[in-house]
Amino acid sequence: MQSAQVPLPPHIANLTDLEAHAVVTSAKAKLGSSVVVLGHHYQQDDVIAHADFTGDSLKLARIARDSTAENIIFCGVHFMAEAADMLTGGKRFVSLPDLGAGCDMADMAEVRDVQDSWNDALKAGAQDIIPVTYINSSAALKAFVGKNGGIICTSSNAKAVIQWALENGSHVFFFPDQHLGRNVAKGMGLDVSSDMLLWDPKKPLGGNDKATLLAKKIWLWKGHCPVHALFSVHQVKKIREAAPETTIIVHPECAMEIVDISDMWGSTDFIIKTIEAAAAGSKWAVGTEKRLVERLAKQHPDKTITSLNPFTCLCSTMNRISLHNLAWVLEGLAERGERYNQISVDQVTAQNSNLALGRMFDLS
Ligand code: SF4
Repeated sequence: MQSAQVPLPPHIANLTDLEAHAVVTSAKAKLGSSVVVLGHHYQQDDVIAHADFTGDSLKLARIARDSTAENIIFCGVHFMAEAADMLTGGKRFVSLPDLGAGCDMADMAEVRDVQDSWNDALKAGAQDIIPVTYINSSAALKAFVGKNGGIICTSSNAKAVIQWALENGSHVFFFPDQHLGRNVAKGMGLDVSSDMLLWDPKKPLGGNDKATLLAKKIWLWKGHCPVHALFSVHQVKKIREAAPETTIIVHPECAMEIVDISDMWGSTDFIIKTIEAAAAGSKWAVGTEKRLVERLAKQHPDKTITSLNPFTCLCSTMNRISLHNLAWVLEGLAERGERYNQISVDQVTAQNSNLALGRMFDLS
């Protein structure tokens, strides 16, 4: 869990938005190539306006890894900044402009619960378990996975990663998002009933008996994204009734029942590229985070792009990174050489995590 964010000092907190934009622009100009600002697709427009690179977690992890900038300002959530620090060997200053920007899904797989579950599975006689964690997980869980011969995935490469894990072991223990694991494994031809089980960390053996455990190939940790949980089958049906010409496209963090009846599903990158390539005049209902859907609608005024959920589906933790937080971090760095909100992962954790991250980069 991350620490609490300190209140912003008055000389930053009292700026108007216009003034805050000017502070960011001037600080970036002064810092030049010594700083790079990375912005995840779910960030606010005022923050994205200053990002040198935008992308999903895989793209931003690659950019962080390959960057030569001394300072990486990561406008995303905590696990992404941790990954940037680990991938740069702790040799760069990585800052998360608001320390409260965590990920509720990542918090659903505490490494001590994972370790207890792992021990239970071994005691039950399971062998050749390959742990796989979605990149939306703590550095501690990534390190556990790396140490135990496993691998990281993102929503873009989950199919190749699960395939690799199936080829290398008898069971794939998938953390923390049950939906991504289930949707992708089902898309690969595995059967939800006969090949997969749900692992509830609050119950002995995840709520399964020994025979079931040993028989199933894919063990899905009971975690989910609270933002993507706000989409429903009912919303899909309503859009089909009201505007049947609309194409429904959703992210695999949505529940299987929604993915199954949507027209298309895939990673954030897939959603963006599909809509970019779509014909003018086409209509889209998108099942993913609100900021991204709103930005797509602005970028493609020739298409009708709405959220599958007419009410808010905002990631409140991503939303914590404000223009003013960004101004605070950059102004401190540019004017006084002060470093705020550094995200730093200890060396052993980073080494083990990098084993799992390296296996992922080798595959994708
Ligand atoms: S959208 Fe969901 S998975 Fe992504 S950062 Fe927010 S809580 Fe985590």
